[in-house]
Amino acid sequence: MKIGALKETQDGEARVAVTPSSAAHLQKLGHEVYVQAGAGEGAGFSDDDYRNAGVTVEGSAADLTKAVDVVAKVRPPSDAELDGMDEGQTLISFFYPGQNEALMERARDKGVTAVAMDMVPRISRAQKMDALSSMANIAGYRSVIEAANNFGRFFTGQVTAAGKVPPAKVLVVGAGVAGLASIGTATSLGAQVYAFDVRPEVAEQIESMGAEFVYLDFEEQTKDGAETGGYAAPSSPEFREAQLKKFRELAPQMDVVITTALIPGRDAPVLWTKDMVEAMKPGSVIVDLAAEKGGNCELTQADKRIVSDNGVIIIGYTDFASRMSAQASELYGNNIRHFMTDLTPKKDGVIDHNMDDDVIRGATVTHDHEITYPPPKPKIA
Ligand code: NAD
Repeated sequence: MKIGALKETQDGEARVAVTPSSAAHLQKLGHEVYVQAGAGEGAGFSDDDYRNAGVTVEGSAADLTKAVDVVAKVRPPSDAELDGMDEGQTLISFFYPGQNEALMERARDKGVTAVAMDMVPRISRAQKMDALSSMANIAGYRSVIEAANNFGRFFTGQVTAAGKVPPAKVLVVGAGVAGLASIGTATSLGAQVYAFDVRPEVAEQIESMGAEFVYLDFEEQTKDGAETGGYAAPSSPEFREAQLKKFRELAPQMDVVITTALIPGRDAPVLWTKDMVEAMKPGSVIVDLAAEKGGNCELTQADKRIVSDNGVIIIGYTDFASRMSAQASELYGNNIRHFMTDLTPKKDGVIDHNMDDDVIRGATVTHDHEITYPPPKPKIA
């Protein structure tokens, strides 16, 4: 089959879905690989880099779409991109089907099979295709780099001839994939790191990374930080109060706060309130990784870096992975080629879209003129 990557059209999106190295793997599966001219530019891959990897470069989006059986993208397709596709073609990209019903109906009406990389089940077997995790890992790392770049002091403590410098105090709120990457990066820069999550089972993981788990004065932490399939559920009002009380105590002491708290299918919980920002020292930095879902900090503005009246820098960028486009494309390209490996079981260039396979079924949102979202629960953990 022929698989090709379109150049991303969303403003500021620098990633690409196929890299020269992932192309080589796709070819080993028996596929021919294509890219739209300039598709890899933002991530540092020239058209010649692709040609040298045996990839055919097509001049326009329309030519690319016509030439291939499978269109690969990073962002969900625009209406025009989808309309350019034909019956029987497959699209692989982030799709967010829960928020993009009209797009899903369009794909169904066109007879396009749509694979949502954000719907790959989070089971062990599918970890290598888990694009949500690979991008969250990058976002977590980059959040600390942005914080350090905006913080006018060292992260690590130092004793120098010119004076003693204490380590920066960093609080990470939410210890999922992104939060754990933030914790790892901040500790490796020498900061004194504190972390909190409603799922108490992550305490051990946080502590093993050299950070301190923030415990609440609340007896029912285990119950109220209830999990649903490993994800957080909304907290009770009493638990939330205990959490905010603890954060109010910590706010004046923290130099950097990185918030990553999310609850699937909901707006981000507001956990860092205006009065907490006001209690922080001038020059402190907040990086809100939940900005796209409304933000964990009350003052966050999505896609902006703002400075509060008391001099606290609040960063609400929503494109952290794209800010590391080379790395992100490499990992996303790998996620896609692993998915293609499952779609090509005989490695003969023939796609078998096996809807009895948990992973393929879970990620497929339209197939054979039908909407196949939401999928049934995966059978294997
Ligand atoms: P996420 O992005 O949905 O949420 C980020 C974190 O915010 C979570 O740890 C959540 O507990 C936390 N949170 C929610 N409300 C909070 C609050 N009020 N205060 C503090 N923290 C709050 O999470 P994620 O990174 O997608 O990971 C979620 C789960 O999925 C974890 O259990 C993770 O281990 C699991 N996971 C499994 C796989 C796999 O098996 N393949 C892959 C990735 C993640």
